[in-house]
Amino acid sequence: MQNKTPFTIAIIGGGAAGLMAAITAAKEGATVHLYEQNIALAKKILASGNGRCNISNARLSTTDYFGEKPEFVDFCLKNFTFEQLQKFCKSIGLFLNLLDDGRAYPLSNEAKSVALSFESAAKSCGVQLFTEQTVTRVEKTEAKFYLHGEEKVPQAYDRVLIATGSEAAPQLGGSALGYAIAESFGHTVLATYPSLVQLHLDSSVHEKISGAKLEAEVTLYLNGKKEQTIKGDILFTKYGISGFAILDISQKASQALLNYERVSIGLDLLPLFDRQALSTQLLALSQSLGGYTMATLLSGLLSIKIAATLLEDAKVEPSTLAKELSIKTAKQIVSKIKDWRFEVKETHGFKHAEVSGGGVSTAEVNAKSMESLKCKGLYFAGEVLDIVGRRGGYNFHFAWASGYLAAKEMANTKF
Ligand SMILES: Cc1cc2nc3c(=O)[nH]c(=O)nc-3n(C[C@H](O)[C@H](O)[C@H](O)COP(=O)(O)OP(=O)(O)OC[C@H]3O[C@@H](n4cnc5c(N)ncnc54)[C@H](O)[C@@H]3O)c2cc1C
Repeated sequence: MQNKTPFTIAIIGGGAAGLMAAITAAKEGATVHLYEQNIALAKKILASGNGRCNISNARLSTTDYFGEKPEFVDFCLKNFTFEQLQKFCKSIGLFLNLLDDGRAYPLSNEAKSVALSFESAAKSCGVQLFTEQTVTRVEKTEAKFYLHGEEKVPQAYDRVLIATGSEAAPQLGGSALGYAIAESFGHTVLATYPSLVQLHLDSSVHEKISGAKLEAEVTLYLNGKKEQTIKGDILFTKYGISGFAILDISQKASQALLNYERVSIGLDLLPLFDRQALSTQLLALSQSLGGYTMATLLSGLLSIKIAATLLEDAKVEPSTLAKELSIKTAKQIVSKIKDWRFEVKETHGFKHAEVSGGGVSTAEVNAKSMESLKCKGLYFAGEVLDIVGRRGGYNFHFAWASGYLAAKEMANTKF
């Protein structure tokens, strides 16, 4: 441990950003108190990556992030790279497994290892942990900060880090309190919206095929204009549609819904076929297997559930005999298979979202220190800021990197 810095630091939020900041500041010798509203720390870490925690990504770039000023992440990512995270994790006893596509997981493949390593490191560095302590207000008097919860905390702090995360997943501690604290210091909070979230469709179809899962190419249309195409799993549900490809397009879809844009998706259920080849194939089969119904004919290409519903939606009676298939009807069916359009009504909401877009405006935070430009000694890290990443470990990496940067500054910068 280095020479003790004279600073006493309060960190609000015991998630990824708060834990990284607490360990880093304590290692620098600061006195660190960490406040967490939940009964236990790191609830989102524990629930992340389907219990495996996609902790980071070896291929990090600013283009993996969104917000009003995505370039805000530049310094942070350069200052704390994936390799530095890997080294840091090793120093606290946590080994990582790097997949070919760049995603990193704990070697144990268990999110529990991540939560346990970070919590144990914080304790062994001397961080004082206060769980079940919701901070509702922060007050600054003569260069000292005071925290308020149910009661005022008597301890005066030199610096405060707001690492309260976002409203996503309230069941795991998602909360808007950090935004209110930021606003009380004059910060602007940009409208928040759920991201990496399932979508609700305006259709009578999805309910009928609820449970059907397939690999498809999903195209997002905003006000009728093509915006993004992503290939991956989709899953029809009672409320609409889910799956990795849907989560991936949800960032832009949700932001557009917030701005009252018309949002729709087009599903290509058979991306390996082009329209002409599919049409020719269907017509040929309709002759050689003319005694089949159209539903049976299509079920050799698509799931049975989807085949019948898609035919109905294309205004083709599923029990029609294949031999009756005309060129025009074949085109109608192919159009649905290659571009099944659905209007998106809304997202599945913060409760089901992995992250939130919007948050504390990065225009009012120093990107090289994470310090507030409105109030000396006040810092921000993690998802509370108007930065949201793609799926693939990017959100955690920003939390680690911004927590690390803020901690170094809080522990060492003299005013
Ligand atoms: C189900 C799920 C799966 C995910 N999987 C991944 C993944 O695999 N990879 C990835 O990169 N990202 C993933 N994410 C996103 C990732 O969890 C977040 O981006 C990350 O946790 C943000 O870190 P943070 O420290 O900013 O906020 P959080 O981890 O949310 O931590 C904030 C903490 O502050 C506490 N808090 C809030 N307000 C107060 C207050 N007023 N007083 C005291 N405490 C307070 C909260 O209880 C919480 O513990 C997932 C999210 C969810 C919900």
